Amino acid sequence: MNNRQLFLNHLAQTTDFPLAIEIERAEGIYLYGPNGERYVDLISGIGVSNVGHRHPRVIAAIQAQLEKYLHLMVYGEYVQSPQTLLAQAICQTLPSQLDNVYLVNSGSEAVEGAIKLAKRYSNRREILSCVNAYHGSSHGSLSVGGNEMFKRAYRPLLPGIRTIPFGEEEYLAHITEHTAAIIMETVQGEAGVRFADPAYFAALRSRCDETGTLLILDEIQSGFGRTGTFWAFESYGIVPDILVCAKGMGGGMPIGAFIAGKEVMGSLKTNPLLGHITTFGGHPVSAAASLATIQVIQEENLAQQVAGKAALFKKLLVHPRIKSCRHVGLMMALEFESFEVLKPIIDRAISKGVITDWFLFCDDSMRIAPPLTISEEQIAEACNVLLDAIEHQG
Ligand code: PMP
Repeated sequence: MNNRQLFLNHLAQTTDFPLAIEIERAEGIYLYGPNGERYVDLISGIGVSNVGHRHPRVIAAIQAQLEKYLHLMVYGEYVQSPQTLLAQAICQTLPSQLDNVYLVNSGSEAVEGAIKLAKRYSNRREILSCVNAYHGSSHGSLSVGGNEMFKRAYRPLLPGIRTIPFGEEEYLAHITEHTAAIIMETVQGEAGVRFADPAYFAALRSRCDETGTLLILDEIQSGFGRTGTFWAFESYGIVPDILVCAKGMGGGMPIGAFIAGKEVMGSLKTNPLLGHITTFGGHPVSAAASLATIQVIQEENLAQQVAGKAALFKKLLVHPRIKSCRHVGLMMALEFESFEVLKPIIDRAISKGVITDWFLFCDDSMRIAPPLTISEEQIAEACNVLLDAIEHQG
């Protein structure tokens, strides 16, 4: 059996349409197959490789940490410099009130932690979330997801959760004194890149303040430079009470975090109730990789280059079959007539060396979320392949 057959036989399949491309090596924006194939990774492994694959500084940080130690102890007991330096570096990217970082392994876990923290701190039980939100696949994070089709088979899920439309001010009245928290993506990703007005976020912030409700922003997809600022919320002029992140955070290694102020986070350690425990959260190798990733984003000015690169994509990707281009920085969605139109375009683009896909809750739109390190020449190269695919398959 070849590797592809083994993959289909023995690895649990999660979709009817796995890309099922065999990759042997990755470097920068490129993935390489076993027979000399080269692909542009135009989706960054779904928003992960913001600094490109195997960035030399990330690799060096991982190698240096391998020489020191791997796992030593469950999270939060020993003083381990990769974790402490990472927490400091993250806090330096944030407004001063967000000064406490809880490191976990993934996005879903960060969301779990944030929900538990909000309940614990507020002593309230109701959580609001948004229609078409995606926050993860564990039971808690799925419970705050906004797509009924994904949730139906797993009910009963967490009680006390209600969803409201994203970006529509009149529904903010649903936030009351009984609401522990409202969780939302600053920019909705799997809904197909949907964004709201700064005025909406201002109204959201003041409604949360009025009712004593915690605002949880999920920047798992929009963080780490993706939208043109280090965090997407920076351009909306508000500050969340709890921030969750993962994906691009680790430069390719698994890590996530939920972040709050000391007062809120402090409620986790009140005895005798157990707070939140993780064995591998903030793994030293991942933490070292993450610290290097932040340094790369900052020192290479990657976020500052996002607007220009996004504008170039928009300028080049003009075709009568593209109905619209929704984007915040390099979080982009190209809208087509339907999935039936889009799928053969994607297949052809992949066969010509550019990997792209669609969104979980929006299958008429093509995902474009390249490594932020992509050059102008590489953008032109990728856009040519996409235009050819659209022309021949659309
Ligand atoms: N929140 C958002 C906005 C996401 O995009 C994702 C992953 N697609 C998650 C949460 C869940 O992250 P993970 O897959 O690491 O659990």
